[in-house]
Amino acid sequence: MFCHNCLRPSPYCQCLQIVQLLSGLIQEAILQKQQEERQQQLFYELQRQRCQQLAFSQSLNNQYSFNSFGNQNPYEHLFLSSWTKYDCGRPTSIQYIQFSDYYIQKHKQNYDSLFIPKNEMILFHGTPNTCSTITCGRCSACGIKESGFKISFSGTNISFLRFGRGIYLAPNSSKANDYNNNQNNNYRCTIVSKVNLGNSVRLLQTNQQFSLPYGYHSVHGQAGCDLNYDEYVVYNEKQVLPIGIFIYKLH
Ligand SMILES: [Zn+2]
Ligand SMILES: [Zn+2]
Repeated sequence: MFCHNCLRPSPYCQCLQIVQLLSGLIQEAILQKQQEERQQQLFYELQRQRCQQLAFSQSLNNQYSFNSFGNQNPYEHLFLSSWTKYDCGRPTSIQYIQFSDYYIQKHKQNYDSLFIPKNEMILFHGTPNTCSTITCGRCSACGIKESGFKISFSGTNISFLRFGRGIYLAPNSSKANDYNNNQNNNYRCTIVSKVNLGNSVRLLQTNQQFSLPYGYHSVHGQAGCDLNYDEYVVYNEKQVLPIGIFIYKLH
């Protein structure tokens, strides 16, 4: 008897062992990959929960106060803990400026007027600032500080809009950092907001012509395929309640 594959007499053929060894290795690699993917999903899920919990705790006392994490500002806590990408550096010299109660209350009226807030999260939005103190009154960071988010400005700083013309927000501060780059300033600026996501459509792939189906209020761009990190898009500015602004440098 000869093996048809290696043409050796049967006692000297090792083909079967090789096949078994290889399939064992492949099985192992598949399992490892699945485990890695599960860990990634868990990581995203955990971040989502953090953003939801903070939004929920702020709804309970309705104060946007700093009580829930001891003396540490909960937004600063979220900003630091959700920084998960280090190829561009780490945030340093972080300043947090909370918008005035008057400003928050004014925008909260719009926020509450649309539909009963549902599926709320605290999310980050990076925007280019040209002034480091957010006082020039002309840059986009100042614009948001003055009058909140405006859909009409969507796409003025970034030409690529993955899910169409809307307001893009991220659970990870390091993801927002991809959008606040400006050439003539060392300081970067990220807005923290409470967002009323309502019913979210989950999308894995880029769709620049996307428009929301009836009964839906936002897009959840889910990490895993086209996206490395989660992002959310709303198409109505009233769904975003800006709370404060982070100014920081990278090192
Ligand atoms: Zn053989
Ligand atoms: Zn400015």
